[in-house]
Amino acid sequence: MPNITGHTELVGLMAYPIRHTQSPTTHNLAYDKNGDDVIQLAFEVDNDSLKDAVQSIRALKMLGSNISMPNKTVVHKYLDEVDEAAKLCGAINTVVNMRDENGQVTGKLKGYNTDGMGYWQGLKEEGIDFKGMKMVLIGTGGAATAIAVRGALDGIAELEIFNIKDKFYSRGEEIVDLINKNTNCKATMNDLADHDLLKEKMHAADLFCDATGVGMHPLEDLSNIPDPSFFKKDLIVTDTVYAPRETVMMKQAKEAGCERVYNGMSMMLFQALIAIKLYTGKDTPVDYMKEKLG
Ligand code: NAD
Repeated sequence: MPNITGHTELVGLMAYPIRHTQSPTTHNLAYDKNGDDVIQLAFEVDNDSLKDAVQSIRALKMLGSNISMPNKTVVHKYLDEVDEAAKLCGAINTVVNMRDENGQVTGKLKGYNTDGMGYWQGLKEEGIDFKGMKMVLIGTGGAATAIAVRGALDGIAELEIFNIKDKFYSRGEEIVDLINKNTNCKATMNDLADHDLLKEKMHAADLFCDATGVGMHPLEDLSNIPDPSFFKKDLIVTDTVYAPRETVMMKQAKEAGCERVYNGMSMMLFQALIAIKLYTGKDTPVDYMKEKLG
């Protein structure tokens, strides 16, 4: 139980619905461990109340706020500045009340997207140097876009994006266009129904990510990959899903002999730890957080 005093500072979480969130557990554990007199609280905020809620970050001198659905793609309208990757993604999950040279919050609000940063930090922590790698990414939603943009900015050489031909497909075409115009990465958009092409690209890739939610409830018995022969042994395989801890796709990869297979837990942990660093300037001990959060 945090010792809340007149000095305690506030970080928010603005989303709707939000009561199921794990975020305050993670944040408050980290603030406590780091010796920071800070707490995070979750607030039910939708698009209608977002403008007032963001203004309250300034009025209450909060350190900032995490932002989740349905506000990620809207909140930029109420901010003073947006980080480059968040701008390219068109989505913000962290709003920071910028500090002056004396460490005081200024009321100037800057938006970031730490989802993409979290994914790539998770790979770095595993000792994986992804610069120059060829990647196959399934998905063009929020998580996939954040991963694609940050990866392209940070040195992924080739990005083959696949998606089903649903409402997200055209978003994928836009992202590919943005990446090709704004980074050194060569990105291509492909139809996930073309299994021959998917297999060819997966055999030529160094890194694979499924960022669709196929593999989690209610699609927990499914995989986007038809069978284990799509995986080669040295492919680094990642899933953004963290519940269940092992998806059908991850089982297929292990069956094919892949040794480096990771779920979405590290992305979730590091997107939080990067946001916490943006709010407080502190690094949180990673092993401690992994042990406590399981
Ligand atoms: P989203 O709704 O923005 O995007 C969904 C994506 O899945 C789209 O590309 C869509 O075309 C695709 N899709 C939907 N149904 C499909 C199907 N039946 N077959 C194939 N593709 C299908 O969702 P999002 O926010 O990008 O989340 C995607 C996944 O990433 C979810 O599992 C979510 O839990 C996970 N996620 C994890 C983290 C983390 O920190 N680990 C963070 C964000 C999201």
